[in-house]
Amino acid sequence: MKNLWDAAEAGKCKSDLELRVYSSRLLGRDDTLVLHGGGNTSVKVREKNAAGAEEEILYVKGSGWDLETIEVDGFAPVRMAHLLKLAQLEALPDPQMVNELATQVTRAGAPAPSVETILHAVIPHKFVDHTHADALLAITNTDDGEARIQEIYGDDVLVVPYVMPGFELAKVCARRFKAEAKPSTIGMVLLKHGLFSFGATAEESYGRMISLVERAENYLKERGALDSPISPMGPIGPMRVELAKLRHSIAQSAGFPVVLSTDADPKAFAFARASNVREVSQRGPATPDHIVRTKRLPMLGRDVKAYASSYREYFARNAPRAKEKKTMLDPAPRVILDPELGMATAGRSAKEAAIARDLYSHTMDVIARAEALGGYRALSEEELFEFEYWDLEQAKLRRAGSPPVFAGEIAWVTGAASGIGKACVEALLKRGAAVVGLDLDPKVPGVAARPAYLGLQADITSAEAIGAALEAGIRAFGGIDMLVLNAGVFPAGTPIASLESSEWRRVFEVNVDANLTLMRECHPLLKLAPRGGRVVVMGSKNVAAPGPGAAAYSASKAALTQLARVAALEWGKDGIRVNTLHPNAVFDTGIWTDEVLETRAKSYGLSVDEYKRNNVLGTEVRSRDVAELVVEMCGPAFSKTTGAQIPIDGGNERVI
Ligand code: ZN
Repeated sequence: MKNLWDAAEAGKCKSDLELRVYSSRLLGRDDTLVLHGGGNTSVKVREKNAAGAEEEILYVKGSGWDLETIEVDGFAPVRMAHLLKLAQLEALPDPQMVNELATQVTRAGAPAPSVETILHAVIPHKFVDHTHADALLAITNTDDGEARIQEIYGDDVLVVPYVMPGFELAKVCARRFKAEAKPSTIGMVLLKHGLFSFGATAEESYGRMISLVERAENYLKERGALDSPISPMGPIGPMRVELAKLRHSIAQSAGFPVVLSTDADPKAFAFARASNVREVSQRGPATPDHIVRTKRLPMLGRDVKAYASSYREYFARNAPRAKEKKTMLDPAPRVILDPELGMATAGRSAKEAAIARDLYSHTMDVIARAEALGGYRALSEEELFEFEYWDLEQAKLRRAGSPPVFAGEIAWVTGAASGIGKACVEALLKRGAAVVGLDLDPKVPGVAARPAYLGLQADITSAEAIGAALEAGIRAFGGIDMLVLNAGVFPAGTPIASLESSEWRRVFEVNVDANLTLMRECHPLLKLAPRGGRVVVMGSKNVAAPGPGAAAYSASKAALTQLARVAALEWGKDGIRVNTLHPNAVFDTGIWTDEVLETRAKSYGLSVDEYKRNNVLGTEVRSRDVAELVVEMCGPAFSKTTGAQIPIDGGNERVI
């Protein structure tokens, strides 16, 4: 554990709040302390309000902000006086507490204050830092966790038994503080939850957090419990159909499509293959913070039906405890442990799946370390259930609203590095899909820098390369819902009299043969798309209206169109729709340089602009326009359409 405080950097901060931002970001940079929005921090300052009265304000992390990237605006200013009054109440139901916090914020538009706000308020120090440090959880989550904490920290910290986060926890902490805190107290350990540190300055509070966690790490190191075991992946054959089946059944159980991400983490393999995984992984999550996003316990093996039914039993068992909590979350797993897959995680988006992966990756560390100390103990089933069905969590789910149209779905686009393909990638990402882009161009991985995008360099004329790309893409996202067959070549004009057979074959190899291989290899995967597979084929105006000098191109696109029509006939029974677009004169692509455009325009006696708009509507057709039609054809508006051919050319007299 490294103290990252940099006096020069800190010196640039002009206020306590800016220092609060600075040291919060230092905590956020270490994923063994806080993960994905976990943890929270605060600072108490005196401010004059508009009426000239001075009041004490607690700036506390707002929900929806991540410590790693938090800014001044990420802190909610709440009136301390009211918070301290609330802390005196006997009881305060959580929804009411949230209302009280929101209505005591002094800046309109500020984010909702953390549910741990009252806890921050009752700690009588200027700066307060709170993390869910892995090393600490490994120690508190053992049978004799409390004794171990005493041994490590002695009187330096207060120890609070597990209480569900919210008002009740704030009350318990306030009581402990009053009764037991000494001038030398620098922190507070919440068993099976996390760690608080505090101090008069940002540096002091941060430094104490780091030194407290360091002491926990040293304790683990001395007992040989710090490092998690690892196991190499080993040779595993093609898994793509297996993974797509698994994703399909998770989606069935959840009631919506999901992204399923698998990664070759040697730590996950060791964990999934350990002889005691069946038992130890079911003992519960390391901290309530992790339940929120990984949801319940991991699934072992790939039997989603059995998992879902045991989840329903768990719900039934605990339902009386939840009383009014009528809503039941979907019974689908979010974390899957399997000796062959290692760890796979599911989510409504690639980001959600990645969050579940990161959280469980840290849980595995906590479990492995606690086991090395003598045995992992976690939140009980009751505690787990209470938290999962917590009013505030349920409210958060309700607030989330309706997801984007392609949430949880995966689209594959060939020829993704530029032009229409790149525009399709962007349009699909915008609508919530995870996207795999294929291209011969080595620039393809850089088309989008987001967890929902994977760019793979691949030569689609090689069946081997297609197989490898499918394996990699399915490991990343779990399936194929939409396939956009866009890659193609557009050779220079050559009259038939001088057309070489080799050139003819080269054009067919890319424009037809490669698409046949892709369709054949993708068919078993498209069949498993939870909402039915969709294929969009990039044809050409030349299919209906060929041009002289474009024999190979026009014939290849005609063959491809015919291939798509047959696919529409054959695959309808599998719920797969296959439609073809016929674009024309899309000039914002790689092949149309300014120079080529000018020469072409001149040969027709037109300006470049006139040439671009040389169609019935007098409009320019851009890559983005084609991409918008592609996503439309994958969406609900075209759900009853297959085998269709649609021009996107501004209207062409020879086609109409
Ligand atoms: Zn917490």
